[in-house]
Amino acid sequence: MKPNTKRCLSLSDSVQFIKGVGPRRAAMLKKRGIETAEDCFFFVPHRYEDRGQVKTIAQLKAGEHATFWAKIIDLGTTKGRGRRKFFEMIVSDDSGFIRAIWFRFNAKYMCKRYSSGQRIILSGKLESDWKGGSSLQIIHPNIELDSAKGISGIETGRIIPIYYTTEGLHLKTLRTIMYNVLEQYLPFIEDFLPESIVQRNRFPKRSKAFREVHFPSKNASLKDLGNSRSPGHRRIIFEELFLIQLALAYRKRNRKDESLGFSLKTRGQTIQRFIKRIKFELTEAQKRALGEIMGDLEKDKPMNRLLQGDVGSGKTIVAFITLLTAFENGYQGALMAPTEILAEQHFLNLKADCEALGVSLELVTSNLKPKEKKTILKKIRNGAVHLIIGTHALIQQDVEFKNLGTTVIDEQHRFGVRQRESLTKKGLHPHTLTMTATPIPRSLALTLYGDMDVSLLNELPPGRYPKETQVFYGNEQEQAYYLARKKIDEGRQVYVVCPLIEETETMDLKTVSETREQLQRRFPDLTVDLLHGQMKKEERAHVMAQFRTGKTNILVATTIIEVGIDIPNASLMIVEHAERFGLSQLHQLRGRIGRGEHQSHCLLIAYYPLTEDAKTRLEVMRRSSDGFVVAEEDLKIRGPGDFMGTRQSGMPELRVANLIRDVDLLTSARKEAFLLIDQDSNLSNPSNQKLKREFKRVMSGKLGLMDII
Ligand code: ADP
Ligand code: MG
Repeated sequence: MKPNTKRCLSLSDSVQFIKGVGPRRAAMLKKRGIETAEDCFFFVPHRYEDRGQVKTIAQLKAGEHATFWAKIIDLGTTKGRGRRKFFEMIVSDDSGFIRAIWFRFNAKYMCKRYSSGQRIILSGKLESDWKGGSSLQIIHPNIELDSAKGISGIETGRIIPIYYTTEGLHLKTLRTIMYNVLEQYLPFIEDFLPESIVQRNRFPKRSKAFREVHFPSKNASLKDLGNSRSPGHRRIIFEELFLIQLALAYRKRNRKDESLGFSLKTRGQTIQRFIKRIKFELTEAQKRALGEIMGDLEKDKPMNRLLQGDVGSGKTIVAFITLLTAFENGYQGALMAPTEILAEQHFLNLKADCEALGVSLELVTSNLKPKEKKTILKKIRNGAVHLIIGTHALIQQDVEFKNLGTTVIDEQHRFGVRQRESLTKKGLHPHTLTMTATPIPRSLALTLYGDMDVSLLNELPPGRYPKETQVFYGNEQEQAYYLARKKIDEGRQVYVVCPLIEETETMDLKTVSETREQLQRRFPDLTVDLLHGQMKKEERAHVMAQFRTGKTNILVATTIIEVGIDIPNASLMIVEHAERFGLSQLHQLRGRIGRGEHQSHCLLIAYYPLTEDAKTRLEVMRRSSDGFVVAEEDLKIRGPGDFMGTRQSGMPELRVANLIRDVDLLTSARKEAFLLIDQDSNLSNPSNQKLKREFKRVMSGKLGLMDII
């Protein structure tokens, strides 16, 4: 039913009923994520055009964009050279004449809409006459009828908004729709920010902010609008980020309040002995991170810390010490890794140390035979096992711990929020260390993990040679394999990574197997082995052992080796079809090399055709081996929604804010949010009631906040 104007309007009205929309256009708008009147407000222009400077024809110059009033003198279809038809309009004002030309046109429509004598407003780019004369012409100008009726004034004589359109929906139509929405619904836009925040940040009123962002007034700054830094933009972006930060502040605060955790004694005997067993000196960054972690463990509040560090920065040792601290205090420690291979590797790495230290260690993956599993689960339940390494299998229902003291989540971005929380829930408020090897740009970290404390490993262990990355295109494949041969002759080992061609495992398998056969034919004297996800645990362990001990020269693998694998002698990696990989994945893969004292090389082989994004990705990889640079670039290319699958993380989608551009507003939003929660932790203060309502409306269910306030 179409609501008439007497019915109450509400921001949640479907756009379908807005003037000029209807079901067909509503479907088009939906493609842009616009379903309600409110959605329209958040669909902000992506740029602006200044059509505010009105000139006379005599003042116009070739090459400039201009807007001017004129009268139509003559119009019609004309034939040009080559018998190409175009539509021509001669217009004039008191100061001169000018010719407007269309190459794509609908003559019937043009003649019906325009007639000589009509007054119009034209805007567009001016060009010199083709004949080289001094007269000007304007091609495909934007035209508005200069009448008192209609939409006159939206399109000209001001700074006008340019929106992203979708197929079948013209910019002009969209702009008119937006204009109508603002006209009808602006009165329903209410302020919800506390007055003190508005004043400190000198924000305009919320309704004014939206009006100025969509249809800026005459004195607005084109530059500020274009950079999304106009006062209106600043308020809308701030609000979006503020609500998220408020949720994080609230969550952190409420966790802090629950003194349900337990304190652990740190730096005990076992840890001293473990550190003595390590062959190297800990880096300063590792020492600092451990200091911060120990500080948390000693408190009776559960630790909630994120350990961020580039691939190869040495997170594993920090994790082991965290786990051992649980053991020393009579608790269990559990580490969850995203792949079986990685869990197996952690297990193997720690096994000898654990045996020497008298710590009982077990591995839990879905690969366990039923009988084995039963025994291990029983031992975990009754506390006979101290440290448990595992995959997702750890969070299955049948796994019960006796007393979980610390949990570590490795490569956390590979898990969803729920999965991460499930492990923690296996104990009574255990201390949790979350680790990530894909560095997260600071702005995203603050948004996603703003309620965690963060430790940073910003230093690689000493003696590492820098990694060099080169890009080869299809027909240069030979050169890459020539370099590989040279490295092997020097005693090094090589990874060759093939992409997942299809989402199906069989196709995937075919590529790696074929590549392996080709390489074996190419290098008959070398040992070429194969590793993929469908192999049995024993087979895989065997392949890894052969490679680890140097018996295999080349390991052809799927992205199964992406995370964690640590074999220092493998100093060269070839990535086949590098154009098909995402940036963070390429960086992770590259993290497999450069782990020993050898100069290492990453050779990316790309095949045409290449998309622009793919070219950018390869170039970023070639230029930088710094994970933070790669992550920033990745965020730029993909946007925060796609970046590292943040969608599944439960982060609300940002509609206006941009985490790269808006770091300044993010910082102030964060400060204000944490300050507010400090002063009014439950938002019960009368002056915060509007905010509380909006907060609940926008944020419930997001960021794992099922039941806020
Ligand atoms: P990541 O942070 O990617 O998980 P790892 O913990 O796997 O990195 O460490 C990478 C490699 O560096 C391993 O071989 C590890 O033994 C070694 N390593 C870790 N810390 C140091 C250190 N302080 N000095 C020298 N080598 C180290
Ligand atoms: Mg690791």
